[in-house]
Amino acid sequence: AAGAGDAAPQATFLSPEQLATAGGESYTYQSDIARLMRVVVSHLYHDRDVFVRELLSNANDALEKVRLIALTDPSILEPAEQLNVTVLADKDSGRIVIRDSGVGMSKEQLAANLGTIARSGTSEFLENLEKGDGGNLIGQFGLGFYSSFLVADRVTVASKTADDTEQWVFESEANADGFKIVKDPRGPTLGRGTEITLYLKPDAADEYLDLPKLRYLIQKHAEYNAAPIYLWSSAS
Ligand code: ADP
Ligand code: MG
Repeated sequence: AAGAGDAAPQATFLSPEQLATAGGESYTYQSDIARLMRVVVSHLYHDRDVFVRELLSNANDALEKVRLIALTDPSILEPAEQLNVTVLADKDSGRIVIRDSGVGMSKEQLAANLGTIARSGTSEFLENLEKGDGGNLIGQFGLGFYSSFLVADRVTVASKTADDTEQWVFESEANADGFKIVKDPRGPTLGRGTEITLYLKPDAADEYLDLPKLRYLIQKHAEYNAAPIYLWSSAS
């Protein structure tokens, strides 16, 4: 269920300036991805609410993986730890931050999971897209993460796995041919998990940072989530 937590989570935003000076490595997207991203964004323009569903379902998958690991290795969980997803809507900065306490991704996993697609079939995807129902297709073809670019012109993904002492950040802009991965200049702020920051396009900020819509979309999804989803807002 969607609800309120005990304490407002710290919003230690990573600024673009901080990232720009943090160095890191540049990567090129696997061929087809940049093109698919553009096609997804242009086809789903009128169905861009799907980003909430896709990002929450990824967060839920990541929590599910922790539960599975905990069956054989309970030490992955802190004592009495409650798995959760937190959504921060920050009107002042025009950002939405989605944080989960799931498995997280290593530096290599960030590059592999967000920079390549596991499922081949670009032409099949494009053919089906012409027939409609792109909103469901992106989930089926493992393109869910790229729905971020329906509403954001820039996305960062900070992530940390349980056995890594470092936290890494994936950074990409809409319409880019590649992405960057840098060590998080804030240090390891996440005990374990992933934090996606969407730098919203101005019209998307108007639409989603006016909370009723975002709250409605989260609640619609919450019934599929085994863990609580908390929504925090800087403007209410
Ligand atoms: P799919 O979920 O169908 O695999 P996505 O584009 O939605 O495709 O996500 C790609 C991959 O990125 C996922 O399979 C997962 O490995 C990784 N990923 C995305 N979001 C998260 C997250 N919040 N935590 C951990 N891994 C994630
Ligand atoms: Mg997904």
